[in-house]
Amino acid sequence: MRRRLAAGNWKMNGTRANLDELRALVQAHPSPGCDVLICPPATLLERAARLCEGTAISCGGQDCHTEPKGAHTGDISAEMLVDAGAEYVILGHSERRADHGETDDMVDAKVQAAWRAGLVAIVCVGESEAQRDAGDTLKVVGAQLAGSLPEGADGDNVVVAYEPIWAIGTGRVPTLGEISEVHDFIRAELTDRFGPETADSIRLLYGGSMNPGNAAEIISVANVDGGLVGGASLKAADFGAIIDALSA
Ligand code: PEP
Repeated sequence: MRRRLAAGNWKMNGTRANLDELRALVQAHPSPGCDVLICPPATLLERAARLCEGTAISCGGQDCHTEPKGAHTGDISAEMLVDAGAEYVILGHSERRADHGETDDMVDAKVQAAWRAGLVAIVCVGESEAQRDAGDTLKVVGAQLAGSLPEGADGDNVVVAYEPIWAIGTGRVPTLGEISEVHDFIRAELTDRFGPETADSIRLLYGGSMNPGNAAEIISVANVDGGLVGGASLKAADFGAIIDALSA
């Protein structure tokens, strides 16, 4: 049985003052009915992790380097994330693929780095609007999945997030049928590659403008095991309502 996961991605948002939102979230959700994860910017990770210590809420990073240490100015290793209190790391987010030219090969190497450090990797895949319009969604998602997931992936070390790029931060959400088609496809691809038992253990998140108003219907779709939430994870009340919807 896959336990649902509500994962918040704060992106490049938040200073110490924003930890009040996390504090409120922790207080309001002492024993949520799903796993809960907050991925704050690296500058807040250690503080956030301390705040969540002994609670049901985990913390994670938003990226990591492939190497454990060295001359890579501005980068952060998976080991450093663990040292700061992370249990997960988001990898291959479309914003990193676009802003930093991350390829599937690079994401694959980062996933292996995350595993080396003992982190669970949340691997993001998703098509652009042009790719969807061209009818290439499944081809694009299949290629990203094949290229970004190393051998050895299983439900304990990987979560896959389907995030259509055109839905991220736009308020536009795919139909439930569109979400269902892609999530079923991802499950089938994982089954082909890793076998049914392993494939069934891997959680598949939907991401892209998930909010308190649509979370309940999105989570009702088969093969949706949670959400990767950007904007709506910044406010305790909104993210709390999503946690409640995923816990129902
Ligand atoms: C994201 O970027 O992972 C995301 C899902 O953002 P939003 O919820 O703001 O669309």
